[in-house]
Amino acid sequence: MARLSLLIDVTKCSGCFNCFLACRDEYYDNDYSPYSAPQPLDGQFWMQVKEIERGGYPKPKVDYIPTPCMHCEQAPCIDAAADGAVYRRKDGIVLIDPEKAKGQKAIVHACPYRVVFWNKDLELPQKCTLCAHRLDEGEKQPRCVEACPTGALVFGDLDDPDSEIAKLSAALKTEAYHPEYNVSPTVKYVGLPKRFITGEVVRRDVPGECAEGLKITLEGGGLELETRSDSYGDFEFDGLEKNTEYSVGIECEGYASMIIEVFTQTDVDLGEIVLEPFD
Ligand code: SF4
Ligand code: SF4
Repeated sequence: MARLSLLIDVTKCSGCFNCFLACRDEYYDNDYSPYSAPQPLDGQFWMQVKEIERGGYPKPKVDYIPTPCMHCEQAPCIDAAADGAVYRRKDGIVLIDPEKAKGQKAIVHACPYRVVFWNKDLELPQKCTLCAHRLDEGEKQPRCVEACPTGALVFGDLDDPDSEIAKLSAALKTEAYHPEYNVSPTVKYVGLPKRFITGEVVRRDVPGECAEGLKITLEGGGLELETRSDSYGDFEFDGLEKNTEYSVGIECEGYASMIIEVFTQTDVDLGEIVLEPFD
């Protein structure tokens, strides 16, 4: 058995959309039956690049999450399809049969990731095939992976311990996108955006000077982290859990230490934090 899939490193994704464009180039108006019917001009995003904005002015962040079909091991699209119209191959790729799936709109609605698109003209659900037609012809990678200039997309067999994807999966902290869907997606992610806490430290008695190099600590959610304020007095903790209580501690010799309690319902910018000098 094999499990062909993708590892997507969000921290390496620049949002260039090359993967999306390569996918469009491969599938628009091209018939690869029985793998896939032609993709229409509009409305289909088999490799979607989602732009996620976090925080706000003056410290916003933008992340890009490439989102193909997750080739789930417990795929609800397979369960929703009549007549075996959606099936898993022995190599783990989930495919929609363009003949059998005709008229089966339920397949679109069954996918919790919303990565199945309805082709109105053909009356057909359509989605990412991991370029199965190319792989079967001996190509090594899907078009999106070939087109990615940053190495954010890695393709391979998760069950082959010698493959790059398996080695990276073992070495990096990978996670599922929306694990709460409980469908065992085989596509793995690194660096999915989480919450961040940021702030800027100044000293009351030296207002024009940045408080550089101060020790800033964070405790909570099973974490104990430490950083230093930068040359602007700024600090940041990223990769934090949602809806979790954290304590941010600030220490500076000659000034009263501070502990600030933070709840990460959203990203949190503590703004300007003023340290008071000892008399
Ligand atoms: S992501 Fe959606 S379409 Fe893809 S296998 Fe999972 S349920 Fe099916
Ligand atoms: S090609 Fe690579 S870097 Fe560009 S959007 Fe896609 S995954 Fe991100």
